Amino acid sequence: MSNLGQLKKKYKVLIIGSGPAGLTAALYAARANLDPIVFEGTQAGGQLTLTTAVENYPGFPDGIMGPDLMDDMRKQSERFGAKCVLAEVTSVDLSKRPFKIIAGETVLQSETLIIASGASAKHLGIDSEKRLLGHGVSTCATCDGFFFKGQEVIVVGGGDTAVEEAVFLTKYATTVTIVHRRDKLRASKIMQERAFKNKKIEFIWDSVVVEILGDKEKGISGVRISNVNTGEVTEKKCQGVFVAIGHTPNTKIFEGQIEMDKKGYIITKNGTTETNVPGVFASGDVQDHRYRQAVTAAGTGCMAAMDAEKFLEEHGE
Ligand code: NDP
Repeated sequence: MSNLGQLKKKYKVLIIGSGPAGLTAALYAARANLDPIVFEGTQAGGQLTLTTAVENYPGFPDGIMGPDLMDDMRKQSERFGAKCVLAEVTSVDLSKRPFKIIAGETVLQSETLIIASGASAKHLGIDSEKRLLGHGVSTCATCDGFFFKGQEVIVVGGGDTAVEEAVFLTKYATTVTIVHRRDKLRASKIMQERAFKNKKIEFIWDSVVVEILGDKEKGISGVRISNVNTGEVTEKKCQGVFVAIGHTPNTKIFEGQIEMDKKGYIITKNGTTETNVPGVFASGDVQDHRYRQAVTAAGTGCMAAMDAEKFLEEHGE
């Protein structure tokens, strides 16, 4: 790992993000002798560092722990000369090449940019959630599950993340109640089966959490839940609330400079990682709201590095 002080002023390839997309782009760019820099951001290794076992990354028949997989990916890219910097990019100027990438006081220039800044957990958007985040409200069961040993918790959401978190939380909690806004889960069939089979998991269907009850000192005592069909509001006792309702792309610093869809995902040209700005490429969850898998992120990371290499060749670099 490097620090900001050791960096040159100008690079051929700069990568923002250190999940599977960013680190695979770094591996390929390093092997193409492009001397890439990876800005790791605030969550080095990305979302997989917040999970436990990853069972669907090919090549690991017994699964691998998310943080271990990311650590290995970083080491593999560094072996070929990629430099990973534990810093967050605060702004960019993509109006002309070389692009300007700014991290606090540090300003770097780069001929190409690979955006692999991923996505972050979504929130319910209610005041009590904001107030009690870190005091009984969490968006990461792997990080915080341990604190709810012997307690009752709820998980909000109906996708794979919600179900995965619920199953994980049964290791600690006495009961885990999934509160979902519809009467069917969105999660894959295999995950649904795991949840339905687990005696510690209960469901409250067609319902949304409208308020989380408690305070920062004593923690959470329960939630107020509204049935979306009848409007009836009931209270459910619990000590923990895990919000697992999906993600939003981390694209704030690129707003107004690059083409995005209405949800803020960067638009890439069909079958490539090219954006509407020549020399800027996007890979991983920041441009993918459909597949969002570690393996697809890694695949598009590889594509981004190859696209950047071709771009540099075509522009005489
Ligand atoms: P998803 O977008 O798949 O699911 C989000 C869930 O939250 C949906 O059930 C949705 O309801 C619900 N929701 C969204 N907004 C709100 C809201 N404001 N209030 C209440 N509920 C809300 O996100 P996930 O994070 O679950 O999964 C993302 C991707 O990652 C998927 O492709 C998934 O397959 C994958 N994944 C794979 C895993 C694995 O293979 N082990 C593990 C985890 C994720 P509704 O259904 O009504 O839209």
